[in-house]
Amino acid sequence: MVEDEKQVTGLIHSTETFGTVDGPGVRFVVFVQGCRMRCKYCHNPDTWAMKNSKATTRTVEDVMEEARRFQGFWGTKGGITVSGGEALLQIDFVTALFKYAHELGIHTTLDTAAQPFNTDPYVTERIDDLLAVTDLVLLDLKEINPERHKTLTGNKVDNILEFAQYLSDHDKAMWIRHVLVPGESDFDEDLVALGEFVKTLKNVLKFEILPYHTMGEFKWRELGWKYQLEGVKPPTKSRVHNAQALMDTESYQDYLERIK
Ligand code: SF4
Repeated sequence: MVEDEKQVTGLIHSTETFGTVDGPGVRFVVFVQGCRMRCKYCHNPDTWAMKNSKATTRTVEDVMEEARRFQGFWGTKGGITVSGGEALLQIDFVTALFKYAHELGIHTTLDTAAQPFNTDPYVTERIDDLLAVTDLVLLDLKEINPERHKTLTGNKVDNILEFAQYLSDHDKAMWIRHVLVPGESDFDEDLVALGEFVKTLKNVLKFEILPYHTMGEFKWRELGWKYQLEGVKPPTKSRVHNAQALMDTESYQDYLERIK
């Protein structure tokens, strides 16, 4: 890669050195600043603002240098994940970082909710450049019903489903994740519809339910905001099992099992 690409900058919220849930193996996770979704259960609301005095502007070279200090822990499966906030809002930075990672033989994972995606050629050209250096996409499908999706996230769902289709059409490996929130994203008919939609996609290596939790609630309080899901409890085991059965998540082999 040319030297200039190593100097591309991103606005970074934080990094995590031993991530174990954001892709296969042990990973260095980069959380970028900025997200236009407004998920009621967001556990990183401090990443929303496009400007944040606590975020730092860092070059690809600088982030990679930090990441590689931990490379010895990644083994054969781990690598680097970019999460957020919304990673696609800083696509030029992520593409340059992943390009550099691939030159160094490092596995790359993009964790996204896909809100910025649309099929404008200006966008898809840049998405194609990013996907060319992305090994795995973690895609959150938060709710398939358009009205309920809008209520839960403040955004439309159509372009997010289009992104899932785009990944499938381009044979990109993906994990699909659905956060199960009682009263918001655990309606039987929607779970069935989501399961049917996911079955139409190619290359879904993992399809999982993430039970809603309240661990991010304190961050809303720290920001002086009213928590949107006050009083909502995590789903019961039986609701999680119900969702797994309706979406048929068991039929998706765990990715880690597949690559053994
Ligand atoms: S997409 Fe992610 S970072 Fe953005 S609001 Fe939703 S949960 Fe939070």
